[in-house]
Amino acid sequence: MQARLIETVEIAPGVRHFVFAALELPRLSFTPGQFVSLSGAVDGKTITRAYSIASPPSAGNRFELCLNRVDSGAFSPHLFDLAPGDVVEMGAPLGTFTLREPLRDSLLVATGTGVAPFRSMLKAGLRAGSPAMTLLLGARHESHLLYREEFEALSRQYPRFRFWPTLSQPGPEWRGRTARVQAHLAEAIDGRTDIDVYLCGLQAMVDEVRQILKGMGFDRKQIRYEKYD
Ligand SMILES: Cc1cc2nc3c(=O)[nH]c(=O)nc-3n(C[C@H](O)[C@H](O)[C@H](O)COP(=O)(O)OP(=O)(O)OC[C@H]3O[C@@H](n4cnc5c(N)ncnc54)[C@H](O)[C@@H]3O)c2cc1C
Repeated sequence: MQARLIETVEIAPGVRHFVFAALELPRLSFTPGQFVSLSGAVDGKTITRAYSIASPPSAGNRFELCLNRVDSGAFSPHLFDLAPGDVVEMGAPLGTFTLREPLRDSLLVATGTGVAPFRSMLKAGLRAGSPAMTLLLGARHESHLLYREEFEALSRQYPRFRFWPTLSQPGPEWRGRTARVQAHLAEAIDGRTDIDVYLCGLQAMVDEVRQILKGMGFDRKQIRYEKYD
């Protein structure tokens, strides 16, 4: 399968939002939380990397990704060099990092571009009367809070959705939460063990949060996670 790049927008330093159209398909079918694999030739070698779909399923073949440029990385700089109209190879959507059924009150924890699958899940799933959802999103600086305005708008629209951004290196004007996501878990969970927790980001955060949750009495089945590295 192939995808054509429609547009990219810088949404934070070193982070871009990509809009693609899957070619030869009237509609791209996937479950929020799944990823696609993109492949391309870099220095004569074919490289493949996974990227979580950041948009909700739609009636068409468009889908969105949120990519961090890893400067020393083999593939992400190549994707950042694509221009609208360029075509990349892609695999069908895959993965089991999806919301559990039946949906229960949930905590979603992300750092950096780990928020991508949560954007898809929340945009697809939030409705009046949905279970309570909290998105705990960690970043170093305010400028790295990805899709902040969108999540703030969702939290105004759906009172049972809480958006909790936290900064580990806040500027002097920041009045919100500080420190890493780990520091806010206990408050977000509030002593409950009947909720599901979803984690997405780099391995160090995911492993550390899983350990904390196990210590709080969470069962493995209640914790779903996706590690990017
Ligand atoms: C299921 C899955 C979904 C993923 N979804 C996304 C996504 O939505 N957006 C995204 O940007 N990446 C995502 N990744 C990571 C992505 O597949 C690549 O690993 C990333 O683009 C780096 O590739 P590279 O070839 O440039 O770097 P490589 O040459 O492979 O170097 C890897 C280095 O990059 C670091 N790294 C990997 N991902 C990131 C990241 N996102 N931010 C900072 N450092 C990183 C690793 O720790 C490692 O040190 C996902 C990975 C998996 C397994």
